[in-house]
Amino acid sequence: MARFPTLLALALATEQDVLAAWSGLGYYRRARMLHRTAQFVADHYHGNLPQTAEELRLLPGIGAYTAAAVASIAYGEPVAVVDGNVERVLCRMEGWKAGSRVGGGSALRRKIEELAARLVDPLRPGDFNQALMELGATLCVPRNPQCLVCPLAADCKTQGEHDTAPRPRMQSREVAHALSVRSGLAHREVLLEQRPASLTVMPGLWELPTLRESAVPDEALRMTVRHAIMQVNFYVRIRTVFEDDVEALTVPGGERRWVSLQDADGMALTGLARKVLTRAHLLVAAPLDAMAKQDDEEF
Ligand code: SF4
Repeated sequence: MARFPTLLALALATEQDVLAAWSGLGYYRRARMLHRTAQFVADHYHGNLPQTAEELRLLPGIGAYTAAAVASIAYGEPVAVVDGNVERVLCRMEGWKAGSRVGGGSALRRKIEELAARLVDPLRPGDFNQALMELGATLCVPRNPQCLVCPLAADCKTQGEHDTAPRPRMQSREVAHALSVRSGLAHREVLLEQRPASLTVMPGLWELPTLRESAVPDEALRMTVRHAIMQVNFYVRIRTVFEDDVEALTVPGGERRWVSLQDADGMALTGLARKVLTRAHLLVAAPLDAMAKQDDEEF
């Protein structure tokens, strides 16, 4: 909000600026869509966000859930929000065995949406939707729901756990990156590589070059980091690589650039690149990163 205080300011920014501000938060598609939506609204709606769920759904990156959430919470439109939490609460209340992603399919999804639409409070739809989502997030949780203190218990047919989707198993992958730093004219510089625009994952973001070998000799190992992206745990080895060895040790990828550490800090770095540079004390950790580090496993 400080960097892009108005929708127009966001619309006028470059995508790299927006990605730089988002760097480290993950789900970069959201930043891209937010940016595209700001431009779309500036171009087609004179900079004023539409106020109905139907119109909001026409905006880039906005689906049924976000459209209903914005329309009901911000503008008081009586439309129901159905996220995973709401779906679980309603299925348990009705005694429907599984969620729509576990065998129920689109027919069950429609039943859930119809029920949610019937239940939504026309006078306070935003509060109603938030209350139901919150109930699912705090009381009617996937395992050990707190039925004894649930305000819906009297109307709930299940009053306890029902069949839910098993949590997807995390996959593991090993990768290795080069940390290459040199003394520039005035500042120290780090070698970064831009992920090609054709990639589906994090296109356009800047990362450390990938090493040809994921195995790194102990004496060359700078640090190891675990980094989770979606359902994959990446076990990452970081090797210090001298400038002269970069070509021999790394896989050619996108455009490479030596950038001062100060400039790197303001670039659209991947979360992993930012994490590594911070842990190598080349970038200063943002307060939130410093807190996150406590929960993060380093080995
Ligand atoms: S009574 Fe239990 S299962 Fe039913 S909605 Fe409340 S927490 Fe969920």
